[in-house]
Amino acid sequence: MRFRRETISVEEARERLLARAMVMPQESIDWEDAVGRIVATDLHATCALPPFDRSAMDGYAVRSADTAGASPEATVTLRVVETVLAGDVPRKQLGPGEAARIMTGGMIPAGADCVIMFEQTVNPGEVAETVALKKAGKPGENIIKQAEEVAEQQIVLKKGERINPGTVAVLATFGYVQVPVIRKPRIGILSTGNELVGADQPLVPGKIRDSNTPMLSALIREAGGIPVRFPRLPDEYGLTVQEIETAMAQVDVLITTGGVSVGDMDMVAAFVDRDDVELLFNRVAMRPGSPTTAAAYQGKLLCGLSGNPGACYIGFELFIRPLLYKLTGKPHVEPRQMQAILASDYLKPCPYPRYLRGKLSAVGSTLYAYPDALDKSAPLSSLKDTECLIVIPAGGRGLQANETVTVIPTGWVS
Ligand code: AMP
Ligand code: MG
Repeated sequence: MRFRRETISVEEARERLLARAMVMPQESIDWEDAVGRIVATDLHATCALPPFDRSAMDGYAVRSADTAGASPEATVTLRVVETVLAGDVPRKQLGPGEAARIMTGGMIPAGADCVIMFEQTVNPGEVAETVALKKAGKPGENIIKQAEEVAEQQIVLKKGERINPGTVAVLATFGYVQVPVIRKPRIGILSTGNELVGADQPLVPGKIRDSNTPMLSALIREAGGIPVRFPRLPDEYGLTVQEIETAMAQVDVLITTGGVSVGDMDMVAAFVDRDDVELLFNRVAMRPGSPTTAAAYQGKLLCGLSGNPGACYIGFELFIRPLLYKLTGKPHVEPRQMQAILASDYLKPCPYPRYLRGKLSAVGSTLYAYPDALDKSAPLSSLKDTECLIVIPAGGRGLQANETVTVIPTGWVS
């Protein structure tokens, strides 16, 4: 199996992986931590919105019938029986010829059916026993009716909605201090390679610093997972098996980097060859990263990304980000795709589709994609500038500048 590998398309590989991913169970969290999370159940209005008839203006609550014929030339004078501030409960019911001075947001007194704003009265600043109106009111004018926006028990947030700051306002309005959301998956990271030392360790000849573990950790966190880092592994089969088993028991999904090729020291490839491991795929028609591997082991997913930092990053965007979005119940799981104009030639034939890292820039209404100059699978110094993956189709002689290409923006949010 390690050498005789079935090659499948990126789309087919992603489908096989996502078919095995179940949305995580729900948990209850504070609204403060909820932005970006997905609502796990429908939430109902716990009260009407607004909860009572209230004034939309500073002015006078009146009975519209009493105001008939009022104009600047022929004002109508009403008796002011009380002042209702926002937050007050009116004490009086309005009778014929009566008005209540009322502030914006104040509760409309019983008997009143409209509000005449201060600007339509004589001496609006004066708190007096009477008020002279310069305008007649219509029933309902300047009143925000109870339940005008939302009726009690109506669904205000639907299962599957992504929480944003506006959602937080809705939660607060209906008194939800805790919100049921989809739990974040714990994603284990296990980097393999005899050559690796930690970022905090001095370099010695023959070694390189492990950049994949920190990069994946950051990507997982950004995409809504909880990264769980395990100690780096040397290329030793017994240790690899032991550590994969230990790690998988502690996480929802395990990602390994390195060791998925056909080299003598590719121990993850050897592990997924075992009879008790169900291989989903171990060769994908893509460059870089064709040995990208996925397997199911003891009911959990194991994803083996190439150790090559560029390929590892691309593997995350094409497979792990969609997987995380599926696990966290996000509405869009497949990578976003856009069309762009290739800004420079990429004249290199390739047997598989090539995912070039690049940048995007809009000129007028046209989107241009600029391939990174350094793009082979290894260069990692340009990873920080990557904004998209540019898809160069298989076969042919590559693409020329000004041809249309499909691009996948990296770090896309669902
Ligand atoms: P592998 O997939 O194990 O064959 O590794 C491919 C290339 O990526 C080799 O040049 C490795 O040294 C390099 N590499 C593997 N793992 C890492 C890592 N965690 N950080 C940086 N480079 C790595
Ligand atoms: Mg290796």
